[in-house]
Amino acid sequence: MKITKIEPLVCHARMRNWIFVKVHTDQPGLYGWGEATLEWHTRGVVGAIEDLAQLLIGEDPTRVEHLWQMMYRQHFWHGNGIVRGTAISGIDIALWDIVGKVRGVPCHKLWGGPVRDYIRLYSHLGGGKMEDMYCCDPADAKRFGDLAHKAVEEGFTAFKCMAVPETAPLEGLQPIRYAEACVKAMRDAVGDSIDIMVDCHARPSPRMGLLFAKALEPYNLYWFEEPCWPETMEDIALIQRSVKTPIATGERLVGTWGFRELFERRAASVIQPDITHCGGLSEARKIAAMAEAYRVAVAPHNPQGPVSTAASLELGFATPSYVICETVHSDVPWRADVVKEGFTVDTKGRTVRPNTRPGLGIEINEDEVRKHPFQQETLQRVFYKDGSVGDW
Ligand SMILES: [Mg+2]
Repeated sequence: MKITKIEPLVCHARMRNWIFVKVHTDQPGLYGWGEATLEWHTRGVVGAIEDLAQLLIGEDPTRVEHLWQMMYRQHFWHGNGIVRGTAISGIDIALWDIVGKVRGVPCHKLWGGPVRDYIRLYSHLGGGKMEDMYCCDPADAKRFGDLAHKAVEEGFTAFKCMAVPETAPLEGLQPIRYAEACVKAMRDAVGDSIDIMVDCHARPSPRMGLLFAKALEPYNLYWFEEPCWPETMEDIALIQRSVKTPIATGERLVGTWGFRELFERRAASVIQPDITHCGGLSEARKIAAMAEAYRVAVAPHNPQGPVSTAASLELGFATPSYVICETVHSDVPWRADVVKEGFTVDTKGRTVRPNTRPGLGIEINEDEVRKHPFQQETLQRVFYKDGSVGDW
């Protein structure tokens, strides 16, 4: 069996272009689907996939680890960067889909079989609308409470939000009070039985991240995410040591080496490898095994397209420390037209039963993809009040 073609397919889905990867083989009807969505870098990732393709044409697609090593190592420039890591990830996911199809079983059964009966889903408040997530008016607290209530009405038992505003390296009490008010409104709206997560997008400085973490500690968050830049692991570790709230991070880290320091420093209680960036399912499984050794929870970052979700769920059904799956269900109204999925969602409790089809269990409708061709994503521009550059 040989790989005959590696084809990136771009599908514009409102705020991001999904990049699907189709790996063709010389066996009739046998191909695999992967995803390599990287916002604001679409053309770069597509180019990286095309560069890697020449390495893999003619190779056996079931030698997944061997091909991963080739993609990562057989260049002077290793695959550490986010663009190259994402391209490798998209191809790797598609190769696992092929292996599952060859064996006739879902991917999680290739990796020891299901370790749980279902996986819980969490949503992102505001349905991904940026104006909902980033507005800093103190009157927002009530709106956060209303959105939280709506998520619970939709069946979710957990949700995430952006209740921490952008801040300069050091600011006074106002943004802290704003975050406290928003989180209090959500907790008051949904009670103690619902899990609330707050994502900082790594925008605060280490000191501001610590101040936010301390201020929100009384609200018993399920986790507090990316409280400062991932480049400063010691600072994340310091924040984790300073609060009882579980700290989550890892969505921008690539490879086992990216996570090694995180584990060694006990920097987080939850790791969030993004399967479409960290090196695909091959590398995510190794990272999850490292997490197992440290008894750290795994909850992959997954705001992208449907292949990413299927990959996250396959990993989750074979990974004991996996705790919850991020889901995007209202980004574009035609999402269900693009993909047929092998798993089933209980919309009352927002839980997922395992995929029963081979591989990732999905089928992408390429005619639907072609209805939504590439569009330039809006580049994010964030400036503090004094005009200096901030993080998005
Ligand atoms: Mg995040």
